[in-house]
Amino acid sequence: MPDIAYVNGTFLDLNDAVIPIDERGHQFGDGIYEVVRVYGGKPFLLHWHIERLLRSAAAIRLDGAYSHEKWVELVEQAVQQSGYAEATVYFQVTRGIAPRAHLFPNVEPSVTLIVRAHQAKKPTAPQKLLLLPDERWANVYIKTLNLLPNVLAKQSAYDAGACEALLVRDGQMLEASSANVWFVKNGELFTAPANRYILPGITRRYVFELAEKLGLTLHEQAVPLEKLHEVDEIFLTSTTAEVLAIDEVIEWPGNIPAKTGLSADIPANVTVTAENCETVWKTGEHVIVKQLQNEFYRSINLICAE
Ligand code: PMP
Repeated sequence: MPDIAYVNGTFLDLNDAVIPIDERGHQFGDGIYEVVRVYGGKPFLLHWHIERLLRSAAAIRLDGAYSHEKWVELVEQAVQQSGYAEATVYFQVTRGIAPRAHLFPNVEPSVTLIVRAHQAKKPTAPQKLLLLPDERWANVYIKTLNLLPNVLAKQSAYDAGACEALLVRDGQMLEASSANVWFVKNGELFTAPANRYILPGITRRYVFELAEKLGLTLHEQAVPLEKLHEVDEIFLTSTTAEVLAIDEVIEWPGNIPAKTGLSADIPANVTVTAENCETVWKTGEHVIVKQLQNEFYRSINLICAE
């Protein structure tokens, strides 16, 4: 069975799925999306993802998207149709198909969905984060299709030999380009508060529950960059990365804005490389992260066995 797509009411082979040129997601990034992980044929935390999708829709004034119940039905049907046990489901809603003009068109939203087999990636140690200034807009709590700053940050991180960017806004280490970030200090967890400056991750929310089960103290509090040296452990959470232990934080010495904040100057076009970066934090300890990872996989095995 090939990966499958759903486009406005029809299931088809992913290779045959196309979108019209006047689709607003394509032209403006005028839409919202979700990514759900499927374990053992079951979409994990689906209700939380749909709740967030509907909140994103309301935040961009996108009316007429499917109801919660219809989304559950669609995602479950798509997963069943794919026959995949381990998969990711991507779904998005855009403001529809209309001749290109900024104002909202008076048309139905477009709904697309993709089910892909999950490709297990074993992380190759060490996992590094590259400090970068957060250049995204001021409403990153909305899961919109506009991901250019995230794409650029993640590519710079990869160019520097890191797996992710550690984004700094107003001196606070807030999140990665496609994951939430967590810090452990003296056995206690710290993650940035779910305000407009982070995406409230579904995995982040799940880790709140795991932390409670494990009796770990958790603070929804951002950690300032200047306190990085006091941190014992760092990890990322996301639907696809799950709970990922971090070994090192690196910085590019030419990258002053991560420390000072953005200036009005147009930045130079510089490609960051591993050679022009230096390590600013390192650990060999993943004590708390391992506890959370074990609890995470234990709970997934339980769900799969149900
Ligand atoms: N922050 C950002 C910017 C992301 O893109 C993601 C991944 N969607 C996350 C956090 C983690 O969210 P989730 O746990 O819902 O995948």
